[in-house]
Amino acid sequence: MDRAKKGILIKNADLIDGTGQSPRKNARLLIEGDRVAAIDPGKPIDTIDESDWVVIDAQGKTVLPGLIDCHNHMGIVSEKITEHDIIPLELNTLIAARDVESVLMAGFTTARCMGGRGNIEISIRDGIDKGLIHGPRLLVAGRYITCTGGLMDYYPSWISSPSGLGVVADGPVEMLKAVRNMIKVGADLIKIDGSGATTSPYCPPDKPTLSMEEMKAVVEEAKRHNRRVAIHAETAQSVKDAVRAGVNTVEHGIFLDAESARLMKAAGVYFIPTIGITYSRYRSGEKEKMPDFMRQRVTHVYERHAQSMELAADIGVKMAIGTDVGVAIPAGKNAYELSCFVQHGFSPMEAIVAATKTASEALGIDAEVGTLEVGKKADVIVIDGNPLDDIRILQDTSRIALIVKQGEIIKNALVPAPHRPQ
Ligand SMILES: [Zn+2]
Repeated sequence: MDRAKKGILIKNADLIDGTGQSPRKNARLLIEGDRVAAIDPGKPIDTIDESDWVVIDAQGKTVLPGLIDCHNHMGIVSEKITEHDIIPLELNTLIAARDVESVLMAGFTTARCMGGRGNIEISIRDGIDKGLIHGPRLLVAGRYITCTGGLMDYYPSWISSPSGLGVVADGPVEMLKAVRNMIKVGADLIKIDGSGATTSPYCPPDKPTLSMEEMKAVVEEAKRHNRRVAIHAETAQSVKDAVRAGVNTVEHGIFLDAESARLMKAAGVYFIPTIGITYSRYRSGEKEKMPDFMRQRVTHVYERHAQSMELAADIGVKMAIGTDVGVAIPAGKNAYELSCFVQHGFSPMEAIVAATKTASEALGIDAEVGTLEVGKKADVIVIDGNPLDDIRILQDTSRIALIVKQGEIIKNALVPAPHRPQ
């Protein structure tokens, strides 16, 4: 953009602000520097001279807050993590750089990274912040903290993997040290695994992993450093233990029961179901003519996961969008999870709130992003059409007319010049 311009004016828009309120018709949104300066109706907009501003005419389009994905793995090249681990870290870093750009270009201006090799995601975050590469605002867990034989301790004992996805720790003292080490290298939050996984050949979901004492040690130390704790937990028992230990977000929760959902609700713990990966495996199982026993397994897991999501919604657990990008869902396909939320009982508006306001609360960044409000960071997307009529349009990146991250125009299909705040 012409540097003489004062900022960006988006006009003639249907504006969804992320709070769940009905869209505002013919709204105008003013961005000054990296912040939302005004939303129509308001004096600053009524009195401005449009020639001073980059004007985006959003007629027939919908303005939304930049979307937030609470669960990503950038740079994952294979679902088999032992295969993933054999590529060089340097190449893996480049792949992660490509992934974050894809996520941003899909309209996701914030993403939480939930476990990667070495310090890749931390360096990618820093590279984005320094302006070296394009990507969303990242909140990074770094490597998972896992116990011996836990989900992320996936090599036999005679093979060590110093840069794998997991950091192995046993007992409260080692947990505390692992948390401090992750914070030392730059983690924004701590990720632990409280259960195995339905897809893991070596650590099934019902295998006990971290003890209550270990989880409490992690949470206490993380909180002392003002870090949140996210837990991979699939079974009801692992969710109950995690909530009692004080975690902030539960990932997956495939086999919830009413008690585990009620505990989450009472403790204000956010649930990131990642239903899209389970649903896509179920769908591909149907298509690919899997052997009967495998199809029965993916069907059972999918049915239980869908029930858990329904149960959590009925009980009033706050749920946010997380795609598990890198695991079955490629980077840039993040909006698939919103469609899956709608398919599993959410209205399109509720799915959008789960990807904006609720997601920002789950990540503890709601004072700055998540909704379109005066004074917040200007993370804005404009989509051709109305996602309330068909949520699937958010998956079509060719319909994203504008992406603004923190006041900077990342994509503008209407006016080609880039705008960087002064
Ligand atoms: Zn994950």
